[in-house]
Amino acid sequence: MGTSKSKRHRSALVTVAGRRFTCLVCGQREFTSREILLNTPGLELFDLAWANRSSLGVICMACGYVHEFVGKAVEFWTVSGGYPATAT
Ligand SMILES: [Zn+2]
Repeated sequence: MGTSKSKRHRSALVTVAGRRFTCLVCGQREFTSREILLNTPGLELFDLAWANRSSLGVICMACGYVHEFVGKAVEFWTVSGGYPATAT
């Protein structure tokens, strides 16, 4: 009961590298997100030091599947505002 403090984490639309992103499992388009820390000391061996040892988990609101991204290609958009006109 009471007011929810989780409204900042409600669902959002996602684009990846400018393309509309839908869940790989269920095809739904609303996601929440969380940062995933990578605790692998040997990352530099794979030339992934640029990833700053964290990745972004984009979590499907419908089925819970976590799509994990490294880098800055993922962008979030409000459901009410919709995708940007440039998204394909
Ligand atoms: Zn899904």
